[in-house]
Amino acid sequence: MKKAILILIALILLGCQNLIEKEQKINFVKARERMVTEQIEARGVKDKRVLSAIRRVERHRFVPGEYQRLAYNDYPLPIGEDQTISQPYIVGLMTELLGLSGDERVLEIGTGSGYQAAILAELAKEVYTIEILEPLAKSARNRLKDLGYKNIKVKCGDGYLGWEEFAPFDGIIVTCAPPYIPQPLIEQLAEGGRMVIPVGEHYQELKLLTKKKGKIYVQSIIPVRFVPMIHGER
Ligand code: SAH
Repeated sequence: MKKAILILIALILLGCQNLIEKEQKINFVKARERMVTEQIEARGVKDKRVLSAIRRVERHRFVPGEYQRLAYNDYPLPIGEDQTISQPYIVGLMTELLGLSGDERVLEIGTGSGYQAAILAELAKEVYTIEILEPLAKSARNRLKDLGYKNIKVKCGDGYLGWEEFAPFDGIIVTCAPPYIPQPLIEQLAEGGRMVIPVGEHYQELKLLTKKKGKIYVQSIIPVRFVPMIHGER
């Protein structure tokens, strides 16, 4: 009898937990939808593929537990090691600027949580991402694997140097700020390719660099704030 009651209580608790989890999932879906329409679309990001990729990727899975309920808010969040996951709008804008159509090979510098890499993996053929801090590289690699991404390679190293082995890249996105555009990245950009990169030390400008017939064109997009790129003796 006692055993039966205990089993009954356990089943009820399990049921409650399931209900809470379902409810939370619905709340995250709603929050994500609001984030896309109110923060990203409303500020001018139009690319339908980019918007639907952001709708699909569960941003709350990329932040530490205590920040999950804030994951869809309009600001960056801490991800450990003094680093942050970028503001959702900035992810949308930078991704749109890459102009991906599905066949590309893309390089990201600054894996962080792996969120931007996941968005890229929804939109391009292959994603290569480099993170300089070992604990972040490791946890992003595990997270992306658990989420089932098979087209992302994560490497721990200095992204200033790019990833020669898999170059050239149709798109390069840099999510930490160097004081100037690293030459190895310019060299590893394919003909017709695009690079999106924040540049500057105290004051940074988001730049879009394109390579056409071997010539480099640079456009300034908006002022931004990113963590500095760690390189050499800086
Ligand atoms: N794109 C990330 C956020 C990036 S935060 C996301 O979606 O979560 C910037 C990251 O760049 C940090 O994790 C930082 O450790 C990393 N970083 C800084 N300098 C770097 C370098 N030289 N090479 C690779 N990663 C670097």
